[in-house]
Amino acid sequence: MTAFIDDDSLRKIANIVGGEDAIRVVMALKDVGEATDDQILMKTSIKLNDVRKILFKLYDHSIVQCDRIRDEKTGWIIFHWRLQPDQLEGFIKNYKRKIRKILETRLDYEKGHDFYYCYNPTCSRVTFEDAVELVFHCPNCSNPLKYFDNSKIVEVLEKKVNQLDNELKEE
Ligand SMILES: [Zn+2]
Repeated sequence: MTAFIDDDSLRKIANIVGGEDAIRVVMALKDVGEATDDQILMKTSIKLNDVRKILFKLYDHSIVQCDRIRDEKTGWIIFHWRLQPDQLEGFIKNYKRKIRKILETRLDYEKGHDFYYCYNPTCSRVTFEDAVELVFHCPNCSNPLKYFDNSKIVEVLEKKVNQLDNELKEE
């Protein structure tokens, strides 16, 4: 696997999993390498319960790993957390695959239908089939529905799908 992932990707992943707080936890872990719940609490000033919730969420996605070590004095189990960089690559790849699938489904939908629109910004497009049912009047504002050219949307979606294909090939 490649060297450590860049900060931008790391932030993005953390944000997907747990929002702003997760970003702070992940960046703190990146700084110190390994930390207990308390150490992360001190570094991020997020409430301990929330720190733990975020850590277990990250753990569920294999973004962090932990060692459970028994404290000799208290007998309590203490978690030692650290990032799992090679799993991060896998997370990104899976995420990109998921996005690709969503975009492709959308692309098929755009390509497979003709759309009609009243061109009122607060209304939505309808498919040709629906427009026929509606006798070419908008179900929302009842203005006449006109043909809507979606080729720009198709173009953008195709570009994005191709870009993801290339990125997935490289990895
Ligand atoms: Zn309308």
